[in-house]
Amino acid sequence: KTLVELRDLNKTHTKGQIQTHALKNINLKINEGEFVSISGPSGCGKSTLLSILGLLDAPTSGHYQLANIDAGSLNVDQRSKVRNQYVGYVFQSFNLIDHLTVFENVALPLEHRGDSSKAIKAEVEKQLTAVNMHNYMHHKPNQLSGGQQQRVAIARALVGEPQLLLVDEPTGNLDSHNGDLVMQELIELNNQGVTIVMVTHDERYSRMAKRQVRLFDGEIIVEHQEAVA
Ligand code: ADP
Ligand code: ADP
Repeated sequence: KTLVELRDLNKTHTKGQIQTHALKNINLKINEGEFVSISGPSGCGKSTLLSILGLLDAPTSGHYQLANIDAGSLNVDQRSKVRNQYVGYVFQSFNLIDHLTVFENVALPLEHRGDSSKAIKAEVEKQLTAVNMHNYMHHKPNQLSGGQQQRVAIARALVGEPQLLLVDEPTGNLDSHNGDLVMQELIELNNQGVTIVMVTHDERYSRMAKRQVRLFDGEIIVEHQEAVA
């Protein structure tokens, strides 16, 4: 089943007099259950593509369909509503709140939408277990390694069970050992059915995704897909 469809999508950033055509005629279809990596050199449009997929930004032209929603033509309020419901976002820099425990960090999105404390406890424990961090619920972020913090950030992105998990350079701030652990976790989540789109400039991690999309100067230049077993 198709989850994401981009058709002839363009994005132009305007800053003063300078216009940057960051995405050019992007056509991309992603099915439920896929693990897609987006790679390419700095400035090729990876972050721009991920922020459009994650409804943080709107395309300049073209079509974006997310599940059954015409996501390319939403206004700012509609975008954030759809984003909260459909999308989980993981950033390179974890973005955890230092004075809150692991449990409290992961619970935040659910408290925002007003879930009961019983439902919150069940969901937070479920997602922390999914990333093997349930033994660290009462720790603060600064008591954890970078890899552990990133796994908590993944759990926070997954509470509420979004249909699409977007990860932006998840290993960018990690050494190779912790980077490998985070990648293993993402592969495991994908095996359990989570649809993942990951931006990375690390070719080694890019190749671990089932499907690899390479951007250059705002265009898709290569696509590689593992043969389905
Ligand atoms: P990548 O993530 O691959 O490094 P980006 O999507 O960040 O690439 O950037 C693509 C191009 O768009 C670059 O030339 C970048 O400088 C430009 N760009 C990105 N975001 C903005 C912005 N908010 N305003 C102006 N230019 C931008
Ligand atoms: P990454 O290394 O993750 O691709 P970037 O350094 O390209 O990150 O961009 C970081 C943030 O700054 C992004 O939100 C991007 O949209 C914005 N950005 C990138 N280039 C520009 C630019 N030339 N002007 C304004 N904002 C930019």
